[in-house]
Amino acid sequence: MSEMLALIKEKGEVQLRTTPRPACDAPNHVLIRVKMAGICRTDLAVMRSQLVTPEPLIVGHEFAGEIVAIGDQVPDLHVGMPVTAMPLLPCGSCLACKEKRTESCYRGKMLGLHVSGAFAEFVCLPAEQVYALPKHWPTTLSWETAAFSEPVAAAAAILKADIHPDGLGAIVGQGRIAELSLRLLINQGFERVTLYRQPQDLPSNGFDWLIETGLSDTCLDPLIAALRPRGLLLLKSRHLPTLQFDPQLLIRKEIRVQGVYYAAFPWVLQWLADHAEQVQDLFGPVYPAQAWQSALDAAEAGETLKIFLSWP
Ligand SMILES: [Zn+2]
Ligand SMILES: [Zn+2]
Repeated sequence: MSEMLALIKEKGEVQLRTTPRPACDAPNHVLIRVKMAGICRTDLAVMRSQLVTPEPLIVGHEFAGEIVAIGDQVPDLHVGMPVTAMPLLPCGSCLACKEKRTESCYRGKMLGLHVSGAFAEFVCLPAEQVYALPKHWPTTLSWETAAFSEPVAAAAAILKADIHPDGLGAIVGQGRIAELSLRLLINQGFERVTLYRQPQDLPSNGFDWLIETGLSDTCLDPLIAALRPRGLLLLKSRHLPTLQFDPQLLIRKEIRVQGVYYAAFPWVLQWLADHAEQVQDLFGPVYPAQAWQSALDAAEAGETLKIFLSWP
């Protein structure tokens, strides 16, 4: 069986080594040669063993590449197509899946966390998870932009909530997702939105809605205090610990709380095709896969710019 290079976590150690290439012979599966992969907070948490995973595990879930083989029951994709993929593999049976909102599947498995992922030369996925890049994708197509679709899908989930462009809103958090959320909202016509790095920075303005994108404290009271009565608190972070809040304050202000997970990928890819310039200054350097250790160090050092790994 042919082999491939992959970044693998095993026994608490991370190593770039050879492993068998996925067989990928199911009729509805697609084999993708990975060109570019982005390093995310989740990947760092997996590699630091802060998240429990099966092992050995190929890390990584943000990527783009080219189809190199395809099952005979895959209708709309073909070999040679540039693609990206939704890394949440839906369970197919939860209520969200039954409502055909597979991007909100709450029992799904994540690539690079529950099953082997994308820091590898090849990835095999069910065709429903694989998305061709839009036809009018800019000619200056960059694999980094395509690999950035997953963070955009995560940030764009906020647009599913009951928030309106004329409302007074704020984003609370630091780093890329906070910045990306702000840009998405402004792009979508939200003019009264401000980014605050810490909950303590929030003025008691009576915000109509607040979006949490990463909390250093586990207490929600400053956010609840900054909302107007019946305001909406959106929780966006992926791996929040158990949170504390004063229920009296929440009840008396009749605050609504909503979690949001992912936006649908077709919308995200169209948005990226139309607005690639909105995100490209968030891109940091591209490291060849062989220099993975330096890439991880760079990703650990700062949250502002996305670090990429390119695959041969
Ligand atoms: Zn990610
Ligand atoms: Zn499901």
